[in-house]
Amino acid sequence: MKIMRLITVFTTSLLFLIACVEDPHRDVIAITNVTVINADRDNLEKQTVVFAEDQIISVEPTDKEISDVSRVIDGTGKYLIPGLWDMHVHLTYDDAFTEDMPSLFLAYGVTSVRDTGGLIHKIKPVVERMRAVDANSPRVYFSGPLLDGELVVYDGGLVPEIGSKNSDIEMAEKTVSMLNREGVDFIKIYEMVSPEVFTALSEAASKYNLPIAAHVPLSMTASIAGPEVDSMEHLRNVELDCAFNSAELHEERLGVLNSHEEVAGLTLRSSLHTMQRLPAIKNYDEEKCNRTMDNLKSTIQVPTLRLNSFSMYPGYEREDWQSVLDNVPEGAKEKWILATNDWFEQKKDQDWYGSEFAKWSLELTGRMNKRGVPIGAGTDTPIGYALPGYSLHTELEFLVEAGLSPIEALYAATIRPAEFFSLQDKMGTIEPNKVADMVLLDANPTEDIRNTRQINLVISKGKVLFPKDLIDKD
Ligand SMILES: [Zn+2]
Repeated sequence: MKIMRLITVFTTSLLFLIACVEDPHRDVIAITNVTVINADRDNLEKQTVVFAEDQIISVEPTDKEISDVSRVIDGTGKYLIPGLWDMHVHLTYDDAFTEDMPSLFLAYGVTSVRDTGGLIHKIKPVVERMRAVDANSPRVYFSGPLLDGELVVYDGGLVPEIGSKNSDIEMAEKTVSMLNREGVDFIKIYEMVSPEVFTALSEAASKYNLPIAAHVPLSMTASIAGPEVDSMEHLRNVELDCAFNSAELHEERLGVLNSHEEVAGLTLRSSLHTMQRLPAIKNYDEEKCNRTMDNLKSTIQVPTLRLNSFSMYPGYEREDWQSVLDNVPEGAKEKWILATNDWFEQKKDQDWYGSEFAKWSLELTGRMNKRGVPIGAGTDTPIGYALPGYSLHTELEFLVEAGLSPIEALYAATIRPAEFFSLQDKMGTIEPNKVADMVLLDANPTEDIRNTRQINLVISKGKVLFPKDLIDKD
């Protein structure tokens, strides 16, 4: 599968180069005297970055002459990073957000997103709008629905309908073939699939050269499912594999899965998490966990720490929460304000439910990073009170809190996601011939990751945009 993808990358790069043949009338823009930050090398000071339309033309020391530039942006005292990615978003989860999401992402410097679950008939028109020529929108890569098993967690009951049923191998093959025809960029495998369906989905994805994002299915282990996929989300079900009694817990889990009564997917999944998650974390075994992590060295982990640690570090308590509420689309604002007020009213009675899982998520991410497991930045926005765009910066802070250096956190939001799609030759760093997605910052993010919020302007597909213009509706 990986070789096939390399061929595709080569061909698309070639087409890309051909498409970029000089046009004498195009707008050529230079950012001068700026510090260029790429996550895979040392910072370059006093650089001039020239770009035109959607292509970076050159990155050279500012003392070198430049010619034929139609506009100059003074980057003195500023820092230029590649456009950021959010690797885990749901554009169609909450209709109140869908329309505002593209401009919110851009306002916060998020120039590419990976939509990890939405029904085709809802997500495709959104993707088409976002990909329209001249749309102010991040690049979007989508998976279609969460591919679930006989039972579907996101079935439209208590939670929105973003999942689909795959009862057997034949159904799984048909689904992936249909998704491929619909033009998805990857597939997303969910928690209720059986091992047979998991394998069928994964083989079908290889056939169509589609990368795979997945939760570890409840019927499988992280060590078995992880290496078969390209990214794993939320660290979900990894705790089982890291427990000294993992085999026993797995047996118990299979027992429940094979003998449950008529029940909704959401209920069954929650009951398994409640029954096993904390006991597994308590039974943590370092040796075992190291072995698990070694099995995951070529699978990007998208831990969504912002979400996993919400119970311990609720967004409501952030200093700038009011600015978040101000930017929540009207249709969702009241709900968010109510949740905020509820939080402060009930706080004294909170027993910090879930803080064990929060701590575990942060610690495990730090360990994974140290052991060489690749980490990607994603938020699950708008789920769990995540404002599109804003929440990516919160995720970067949590990645640093977990033990990543600021530059490693930037890697997780620039190069790593490009690698998921084998697009690292085209995006993820500021270099000649790469796409023109960049964020100009007023402060140095390698000194303090919170400085990624100090956005001066955003360049998306070569267009220079100012956050204020994107957010202000009047
Ligand atoms: Zn999600």
